[in-house]
Amino acid sequence: QSTVIGITGGIGSGKTAATDAFAALGIGIVDADLVSRLVVQPGKPALTTIAEHFGQDVLLADGNLDRRALRELIFRDPAAKRWLEALLHPLIRQEIMDQLQQSESSYTLLSSPLLLETDQQTLCSRVLVIDAPEALQLERALARDNSSVDTIKAIMASQFSRQQRLDHADDIIVNDGDLTTLHNAVHAMHETYLELSK
Ligand code: ATP
Repeated sequence: QSTVIGITGGIGSGKTAATDAFAALGIGIVDADLVSRLVVQPGKPALTTIAEHFGQDVLLADGNLDRRALRELIFRDPAAKRWLEALLHPLIRQEIMDQLQQSESSYTLLSSPLLLETDQQTLCSRVLVIDAPEALQLERALARDNSSVDTIKAIMASQFSRQQRLDHADDIIVNDGDLTTLHNAVHAMHETYLELSK
């Protein structure tokens, strides 16, 4: 299996922009966010289990998971949150491992907003943190999403702090310039990772 590099960053840090730049260089990406949606798609056993546990209210009319309803439910009920995490985390981890196994590039990125907050980092030989000042995170997330300042701040509060993330980093890209600067930093990191994975 190819070397796995974990990539993470807070909301609006530029994790996706950086990951896209690695993908453009031919690097395989496993996206933990996508995986977490995949395991609860209609037809998957986890979705049936969730609907049996919480009732049909967590399903949309088309049979898909009502992610917003579920999010609100577990936000109010810590026990429900623990139950859901106990169900989903092992499934997500297994699917991530399967996708990593299938990657054929010289190294592979595991992109996850909660890489450090979960045991997903144990799948990685290095951790790359995309770092940005909190004011810039907020500004970028506001410009991108339809969310309020309060919502973005609440998400930031639920994630590791900038310093906690940096404490766990093997490599850091500071994304406080323009996109060209970010791309250049990704290219330099790519060369390092190619060397490391030889
Ligand atoms: P999330 O965890 O919320 O998905 P993220 O870390 O993936 O956030 P991105 O979506 O990559 O963040 O970036 C947030 C927004 O800021 C995007 O619209 C992106 O295009 C923009 N952006 C990121 N980096 C830069 C940069 N260096 N210059 C200008 N815009 C940027």
